[in-house]
Amino acid sequence: MTHLNAINPRTGVSDYSFEAASVAQVKQVVQTGRAAQKAWAASSLEHRVRVMNLFADSLVVFGDRIREALTIDTGRKKISAEEVDAVFHMTHGHAANAPKILAEVSGPSSNVADVDFIQQYVAYGVVGVISPWNFPMVLSFIDALPALLAGNTVVIKPSEVTPRFVDPLVEAIASVPELAGVISVVRGGAETGQALIENVDLVVFTGSIPTGRKIAEAAARQLIPCFLELGGKDAAIVLEGADLDRAATSIVRSAVYNTGQVCYAIERVYVDAKVHDELVQKLQEKCDSLTLNFPSVSSGDIGPFIFPQQAQIVASQLNDAVSKGARIVTGGELVTHDGGTWMGATVVANVDHSMALMTEETFGPVIPVMRFSTEAEGVELVNDTVFGLSGAVFAKDIEKGTEIASLMNAGGVSINDTELPRAITLDAEKNAFGQSGIGGSRYGAGTMLRYVRKKALIRNHGEVKPLTALAEE
Ligand code: NAD
Repeated sequence: MTHLNAINPRTGVSDYSFEAASVAQVKQVVQTGRAAQKAWAASSLEHRVRVMNLFADSLVVFGDRIREALTIDTGRKKISAEEVDAVFHMTHGHAANAPKILAEVSGPSSNVADVDFIQQYVAYGVVGVISPWNFPMVLSFIDALPALLAGNTVVIKPSEVTPRFVDPLVEAIASVPELAGVISVVRGGAETGQALIENVDLVVFTGSIPTGRKIAEAAARQLIPCFLELGGKDAAIVLEGADLDRAATSIVRSAVYNTGQVCYAIERVYVDAKVHDELVQKLQEKCDSLTLNFPSVSSGDIGPFIFPQQAQIVASQLNDAVSKGARIVTGGELVTHDGGTWMGATVVANVDHSMALMTEETFGPVIPVMRFSTEAEGVELVNDTVFGLSGAVFAKDIEKGTEIASLMNAGGVSINDTELPRAITLDAEKNAFGQSGIGGSRYGAGTMLRYVRKKALIRNHGEVKPLTALAEE
């Protein structure tokens, strides 16, 4: 048995412990999921939709307890409530869309006479979901929900860094008897995650690039599909003539939301040299208007670092940048309070691509700003990265913004906003570029269809070909 402890991010105290699921336990849980999957897939889609809506209802009943536990796990309160709400709405949204997306397609062949086809969708079986600590609830369900509606059962392994929300979540799931074996949760770290991959039929992972490689290797050994949603270094590009106040507000919001611990946070800003100083000043003013979220969890704007080691990564990137000539315009200091670690909204100027701050994921509330002299140079800088999750463009003319967005190597680009892709993502599809992920779209119709095998039934209404004259055909 491996005993794991979790730190409270607001106090730095290790005040919660749990047993990691052993390899044998994971195997058992997946076996239960596999047994349940047969009936779940064989049931009607209407049944699955009804049960998933019951799951959403259970989130209302257990919502307060899940929110409270998530708040202790992450040190932030408002976003914990948003997470539970988001899963509630995503459940209803996917349930409403599923009948249209999963409808069987059939018809005559367009190229072979007398033949018609039925396109069937067959669920993979048991889907393993491995999620990170930055949005423990949303990232445990964002991929599980479409997989479930498509007829798979799921086994979720949340991050060991944020384990407290699992207790009330498991109770919520248990309150819907139809979900027995359909949604399971196992707790633990890397070893439990590896055991999960060794037993499931498909794995979907959200987390860092280094762990993503290990997941892909383990999935390759099993020859099972794996979908990876990995890190980002999202850029915003600000053109001359853009509404700088709007750009600054939106960039700051994106960069500091959840203390910057967001895969699609804006972590780099490229601005036309002619408006550089004005934008930096506005970013500074807006950052300075924000406060740290203590002493009370209900006060202030920016929460603590969820994972204490993350604070050190952010500080070391800032030190590296300053040693290479960067200027911290505002913020940049680690602040400790009662054992938690915070950082105020930070703006950094005089940066370039020799600095880790501009090339590696930061995961902190930091906005480095670099100037460009031509739009082509701006686009080149945006694309000079191994990442490609999403990004943003601010322009006076929305068509010009659209043109620049099309040139950016990213799966989703907001124009005159930093948050738009999040709002439309149940409809539009979005693939990561570069090392930010592989394995199809997490959004739009594609997200449900990636959890089914497409099976073709080909029906010949005419004659079979004769055996004679085979050589002459
Ligand atoms: P992480 O990679 O350290 O861990 C993620 C999960 O993988 C955890 O549950 C962990 O226990 C598990 N794990 C670790 N090693 C494993 C192994 N060898 N085998 C199997 N499982 C293993 O990520 P993190 O630090 O928890 O999360 C932050 C990262 O997640 C950032 O890089 C962030 O950009 C990324 N992220 C990406 C998205 C996206 O949609 N692309 C969303 C949120 C976060």
